[in-house]
Amino acid sequence: MTMKAKKTIALIAHDNKKAEMVGWALRNKETLKNFDLCGTGTTAGLVAEATGLNVKKHLSGPVGGDQQIGAKIAERKIDIVIFFWDPLSAQPHDPDVKALLRIAVVYDIPIATNKATANCVISVSGNFAE
Ligand code: PGA
Repeated sequence: MTMKAKKTIALIAHDNKKAEMVGWALRNKETLKNFDLCGTGTTAGLVAEATGLNVKKHLSGPVGGDQQIGAKIAERKIDIVIFFWDPLSAQPHDPDVKALLRIAVVYDIPIATNKATANCVISVSGNFAE
């Protein structure tokens, strides 16, 4: 019998939401330990530093990180996305943000776009963890 690989959660937070993401990751550290983690460059670095968890870094969002995560979703290598986007600031990579939201829906994976939804997703994450 072969062991299934851990499921993967991608973490992304726009600049005004990074503190919220770090706080959320700290509060949910024990659960997050059950997953492989990745994220856009800056977010991944901040979460890794704050929690001590291993978070694979993709490129920073504005220079292709969102697209890398979208591609991984299409390859079925990302199972859940926690994406704290900033609804009050214009983003230079807005088309990439839309593409990421779209591809998550295409592949029908959970994508939490605020803390309340992230809390819901993480509270049932045992259904996803292998
Ligand atoms: P960052 O990217 O984590 O590298 O800042 C996030 C984003 O703006 O999409």
